[in-house]
Amino acid sequence: MHEYSIVQSMLSLCEKYSKGKEVDKIVVKIGKMSGIEPHFLKESFNFFKENTICKDATMQMELIDITIICENCGKKSKVDSYNFFCPYCKSGNTKVLTGQEMLIDYIELKEEK
Ligand SMILES: [Zn+2]
Repeated sequence: MHEYSIVQSMLSLCEKYSKGKEVDKIVVKIGKMSGIEPHFLKESFNFFKENTICKDATMQMELIDITIICENCGKKSKVDSYNFFCPYCKSGNTKVLTGQEMLIDYIELKEEK
């Protein structure tokens, strides 16, 4: 369950950026190959946000597709999970470009009343 530790570091990042203001919304991007279960991530977030500046915040998740670049023909392509062969020249000599990452896209703070 490394989603827990991800949420912990997300919360401390929010703490740092918001400078004491409450967070309204947090948008994260999750690579389809990052090994993160979006469902667990949300659950963990809802559990840990209690008593933090994120307590009323909603988390929105966007999935990042897996893309590869072929070292053989230089073409980029979107692939299904764990099929890293170039669809153009069928080479297996490819590198993963996106899909492994997990990042916070942006954080929205509550408006001052
Ligand atoms: Zn290729």
